[in-house]
Amino acid sequence: MKRYYKMSHVYAPTLKEDPAEAELASHKLLLRAGMIRRTAAGLYSYLPLAWRSIRKIETIIREEMDAIGAQEIQVPMVVPAELWEETGRYDKYGKELLKFPDRHERNFVMGPTHEETFTDLVRNELRSYKQLPVTLYQIQDKFRDEIRPRFGLMRGREFIMKDAYSFDATVEGMQASYDEQKDAYARICERCGLKALPVVADSGQIGGDTSVEFMALADAGEASIVWCDCGFAADDEAAVASIAVLEGPGSSDGWEKISTPGTASIEDLAAFLGIEQSATRKSLLLIDEQGNGVLALVPGDHELTEVKAGKAFGEYHLMTDEELEEFGLVKGFIGPVGLDERLRVVADVSLKDSKLWLVGANEADYHIQGACPGRDFEVDEWIDLVTAQESDGCPKCGSSLHSARGIEVSQVFQLGTKYSESMGATFMDEDGVEKPFQMGCYGIGVSRTLQAVIEQSHDEHGIMFPVPVAPFEVAVVPLDVDDDVVWPAAQKLAEGLAEKGIEVVVDDRKERPGVKFNDMDLMGFPYQVVCGKRGVANGNCELKDRLAGTRVDVSLDELVDMLSAEVENKRMP
Ligand code: ATP
Ligand code: MG
Repeated sequence: MKRYYKMSHVYAPTLKEDPAEAELASHKLLLRAGMIRRTAAGLYSYLPLAWRSIRKIETIIREEMDAIGAQEIQVPMVVPAELWEETGRYDKYGKELLKFPDRHERNFVMGPTHEETFTDLVRNELRSYKQLPVTLYQIQDKFRDEIRPRFGLMRGREFIMKDAYSFDATVEGMQASYDEQKDAYARICERCGLKALPVVADSGQIGGDTSVEFMALADAGEASIVWCDCGFAADDEAAVASIAVLEGPGSSDGWEKISTPGTASIEDLAAFLGIEQSATRKSLLLIDEQGNGVLALVPGDHELTEVKAGKAFGEYHLMTDEELEEFGLVKGFIGPVGLDERLRVVADVSLKDSKLWLVGANEADYHIQGACPGRDFEVDEWIDLVTAQESDGCPKCGSSLHSARGIEVSQVFQLGTKYSESMGATFMDEDGVEKPFQMGCYGIGVSRTLQAVIEQSHDEHGIMFPVPVAPFEVAVVPLDVDDDVVWPAAQKLAEGLAEKGIEVVVDDRKERPGVKFNDMDLMGFPYQVVCGKRGVANGNCELKDRLAGTRVDVSLDELVDMLSAEVENKRMP
């Protein structure tokens, strides 16, 4: 006989007040509902309710991985430093990588990800093209010594990740493995009840994507996304939007110096002249990786993107005040006309057709209007440099982009031969030649997914779990456990539901009805079956649908069949 659980036995220490350590709604709720507890910064224990949900998320992942032929394994969480030295990541990965020696003074790392381990695992034993493709995955704790662990499970130091690695003989094979994983990731999000967008993180040479992040939409998300009704979605820092810029004031006959006292910021300048910010040009001064000075010009209403600037200038930094002075530049009033010749001038591609530029005059409290590239100054290079924003044009269809915030729950990557080459992981191809594997890697934040679900699905009373990941699907709530009509009726419903394979918890605690209602709402079980004295006497119970917010009276005789059918229906969206 399938059994039901008793709330009095479930270790879920609830909190009445919002814990001071939490900012995010989902983090507060995880703590208040007694689902997680913090051991130290970024280190959490998962209590029974959270663990039940986590296991369900893992089951969904396993089912979807098995369905595409990926095989589950488990490798050690600890990785010998030598493997990371082979790929150069031992020194490059940064402080997130926790390194430690063992008693023999041999160095190890706590795996923050496992490309090296998986590549090492197959490099001497996966030998022939005939054995390919192979995709292996695991679900395991990862450790990253995050600089700012925060928001509970969102950014932990130890967290649960599903990571998969594919090994193919050809680029086309890698593409196919990648596409399969990407499709599976979309289904996993959907089955977990997440509203998520696949966002292009990186695109390849032929225009297709080579990395996609799945972003659960939430205002509290750390990622900033632009998306379009046509289906386009990208990180705002990766998107190459078409940006409409306005011409600045002035005449096309020639530039003119104008007095603009106290207008060191674009905001002040636009306000002073009564023009839109996009009619101005912002000047950014930086030193590129080679140590050369660069003036980067961007539309006044857009920001320079670090990632794009990194691609263009290598390891760059914005000029310090001393460096500005060295080039004779006046902060807040910098422009390309009459510039020190040592400075290279680059401008955002969106400005290419614009002929009337409003720029700094390289003199305090003055700007130049009507400056024209090609005539009044040279632009050495036109590059895509800025962060896309709401109302910019969609690169696919030209419509206006929307912006949104998201939580990165998972990411798929095409790695190519990056790891296989540096680690000498080769196979014998059909033509008898040893070739490095074409690899892909695919990660899902399992613990982050749980919190993302809650961030998307809650109200002021608590969590509203979608059925597929709820710790329990149904809570049966007898209002008086000592009553010799109510208790047996509740018990019978719970048994009946359990018998049908429904995951049931009975709130058998001797608490006031108000306390029980609050706790059940807080813990977010999708259905509550409330058994009160009067209802039961009339042959009824009350069925509350936590997500829909509805309450209906249902006859005790019909409840089990009706509710079990409904729950089963909702298990697979
Ligand atoms: P982020 O940009 O949020 O730091 P990432 O891109 O570095 O994440 P990946 O290396 O892509 O992370 O790891 C795969 C998945 O693991 C991520 O999509 C995310 O869901 C999860 N993850 C990464 N770092 C953390 C963390 N510190 N806490 C919880 N989950 C994490
Ligand atoms: Mg990522």
